[in-house]
Amino acid sequence: MRQKTLRIWIGAAIAGAAALGAGAGFGAGLGALERASDVTPPAVVATVMAREPVAPRAMTPAPAFVPPVQALPPAEPLPAWRQFAVAAPPADGRPRIAVVIDDLGVQVPNARRVIELPGPLTLSLMTYALNLPQLAEAGRARGHELMLHVPMEPEEAPDLVTPGPNALTTDLTAAELRKRMQGALDRVPGIVGINNHMGSKFTADRGAMTVVMQELAARGLLFLDSLTTSHSVGRVTSRAAGVPYVARDVFLDNEDTVESVRAQIRVLEATARRDGSAIAIAHPKAATIEVLRAWLPTLAARGFVLVPLTALVEVEAPASLVAKAAQ
Ligand SMILES: [Zn+2]
Repeated sequence: MRQKTLRIWIGAAIAGAAALGAGAGFGAGLGALERASDVTPPAVVATVMAREPVAPRAMTPAPAFVPPVQALPPAEPLPAWRQFAVAAPPADGRPRIAVVIDDLGVQVPNARRVIELPGPLTLSLMTYALNLPQLAEAGRARGHELMLHVPMEPEEAPDLVTPGPNALTTDLTAAELRKRMQGALDRVPGIVGINNHMGSKFTADRGAMTVVMQELAARGLLFLDSLTTSHSVGRVTSRAAGVPYVARDVFLDNEDTVESVRAQIRVLEATARRDGSAIAIAHPKAATIEVLRAWLPTLAARGFVLVPLTALVEVEAPASLVAKAAQ
C-alpha cells in the first residue's frame, strides 16, 4: 500500500509540473511545487526540486521530468472499489466506524431520509430499487459511498418473505447466476461493491459464491459479507478470487425500536474501541433513522471517526512491490 500511494503522489507531482511548465513557464511551476510541498511527501519534492530548470519553448510541451520512478512497474488503472471510494477523513488514531444502510430503494421516502443523514455513509441500493439511478445520484451528491444490495436465497424464508426479483439461488446454473449478477451490476455505475440481502443458504454454497466472486473480480468490486449465516463462505471464496472482503460486525436494527437501536449502537462503539474499527449494517426504518440522525453528529466528540466502508478494506501489497521495497 505504501508503495502504491507513493507512486500515485509522484504521478500527480509530475503531471502538475509538466502542465504548469507548458502553460506558465518554470517560475510559476516552481511556486506551485512549493505550495504542493505542503501535502507532498518530502522525498518526492526533493527529487523534483533538484532538477535543473528547463526553459520552455513557446507553444511546445515542456520537457518531461524523468524522476527515478522507472524502477516501479507501470501504473495500473485503479479497481472500481478504489476508483469510486469516497475519501475517508483522517483517523488520527481514533477508532473508525463504517455505517452501511442497505435495503434502500424499496420505500423511496425512507431512502430519501437516509440520504439526508450526515455522512459519509455507505448506501447499499437494492438491485430492484425503484428509481435506482436517481437514488444513486442523490446519494453520491451527498457524499455517500454506493454499493449494490443483491438478493440471495435464505435458508428458510417464512411465507411471503422472499429475497426479491432475480434473486441468486443455489439451484441456478453458473451461466444464469452470471447473467443475473451482470444484469444487476449494469444497472448502476459508480458502486464500490455488493453485499448480500438475506442469503443464509446461498452464501454458504461454495460453488455458487465462487461464480459471484468471479463476477466481482472481473469488475474490481469488493464483497461485504452481511453474515446472515455463520456458515458463510464469503471470506474463503473472495480470497480465492482476489476480491477485497469485509464483514459486518453489528446489525443495528434487527429490532425496530429506538431503545434497541441505541443498545446496538453501544455494541458498535465497544467493538470499534476494542478492534480499532467496526462495520454496522442498518436499514431505512423509522427508529434507525431517528437514532442515527441524533448519533452521527456526536461521533467525533465521542472519540470516533465515521468512514466509508472502503476505508476499512485492507489490501495486501502485490508481492512484486513488497520485493521492491525490501531492496
Ligand atoms: Zn437486505
